Amino acid sequence: MSRSAHPAGPRHGDVLPEAHATTPPADLNALDARVWSRTATRTADGALAVGGLDVRTLADEYGTPAYLLDEEDFRARCRAWRTAFGPGADVFYAGKAFLCRAVVRWLTEEGLNLDVCSGGELATALSGGMPAARIAMHGNNKSRAELAKAVTSGVGRIVVDSFQEIERLAGIAAEHGVRQKVQIRATVGVEAHTHEFIATAHEDQKFGFSLTGGDAAEAVRAVLKHPESLELIGVHSHIGSQIFDMSGFEVSARRVVGLLADIRDEHGVELPEIDLGGGLGIAYTPEDDPREPHEIAKALAEIVGRECEAANLAVPRLSVEPGRAIVGPTAFTLYEVGTVKQLDGIRTYVSVDGGMSDNIRTALYDADYSVVLAGRASAAEPMLARVVGKHCESGDIVVRDAFLPSDLAPGDLLAVPATGAYCRSMASNYNQVPRPPVVAVKDGQARVLVRRETEEDLLRLDVG
Ligand SMILES: *Cc1c(COP(=O)(O)O)cnc(C)c1O
Repeated sequence: MSRSAHPAGPRHGDVLPEAHATTPPADLNALDARVWSRTATRTADGALAVGGLDVRTLADEYGTPAYLLDEEDFRARCRAWRTAFGPGADVFYAGKAFLCRAVVRWLTEEGLNLDVCSGGELATALSGGMPAARIAMHGNNKSRAELAKAVTSGVGRIVVDSFQEIERLAGIAAEHGVRQKVQIRATVGVEAHTHEFIATAHEDQKFGFSLTGGDAAEAVRAVLKHPESLELIGVHSHIGSQIFDMSGFEVSARRVVGLLADIRDEHGVELPEIDLGGGLGIAYTPEDDPREPHEIAKALAEIVGRECEAANLAVPRLSVEPGRAIVGPTAFTLYEVGTVKQLDGIRTYVSVDGGMSDNIRTALYDADYSVVLAGRASAAEPMLARVVGKHCESGDIVVRDAFLPSDLAPGDLLAVPATGAYCRSMASNYNQVPRPPVVAVKDGQARVLVRRETEEDLLRLDVG
């Protein structure tokens, strides 16, 4: 198996993931609060319920597989981030983690801003009612059409990523008589992943302007050459994903603030904003131990305050961009078991009715998930199993090693928690499998946010 991949994304280091648990949990029916959304519970007769609704009812009504999203949990996480960072900072939800119009509405109501990185995400954001001024646009290769749409919609900021783009955007803004606010994406030479980070990562990546190579300083000059059409408001950095250790932010903040000091020295201006990106980790399994938003906010404020004091700069307005940390824990995927195959002395394969088309992360990053029997409780002995999908690919694994009750049988419902981020948004139609719906649950009510695809949907694109 490839170890060059990682749950957080590709990385340069070749560090083996921690060993998978080989002892079964004390109670197979338990719902660990670290990986389940806050309203998840067991009913009196042992089934999983969320938002006050029994998964058996939800499966009957909406079918499987389905993503079930706990709206109360989503809103509570938004509020926790908003409150932790306070009025002096901005929280941008990273739309790529999962975006639909209902989510945009919730974000708008809860006081968050929104990151988009494509025309489609921008269209969803605007259609969902997010005020354009609260939208930031990212991406290393935004098209002319995407830039023009962003400029004419009035998005609050565009994070510029290349010299070509600076000129392209300056031209488009001038054409439309707009003075567009921009941030410069700096590559700070920090690569943060989960429990370790590399402060001297080489800068071989497609995003941003290198700090050490002087490109970032050159990008500042390039933007400042267009005072009529571009307004430079700050510097942006994003160092990785599924980060638990704040020390990567310490180094990136120091380097970003260093650039602000250089800009002041060279151009006599103090930029008013910095953005330290997203990438904060969540618990995919009970072994993960993420920081709470208030701890993250406190740590970042201290780091930025200290660096600014050392550089003799006024503290700029801070923004952060959590995606996974907000939506990841809010949803689980509900599957139905189709087959249980015992290979004597080798392994037990449990096949479910979805797989890599609704969750590519295990195949792509070797990601770890957990799973529980959802339609009932069981007192049977634990068995170690591999939960796999229905696709024509042996890497089509949902949960690599899972303890499930040994009386598991076809027709049982399984639930895989922490699938809110980068599952529906990365879903595919591999094997012409229609993508599952996203159903929001709250206070005993369920509402389809994104409906299930049908075979007609698939055929509609096929013009014959
Ligand atoms: C992906 C990304 C994020 C969000 O990352 P999460 O791991 O979901 O928090 C934030 N900012 C930028 C620029 C990104 O590319």
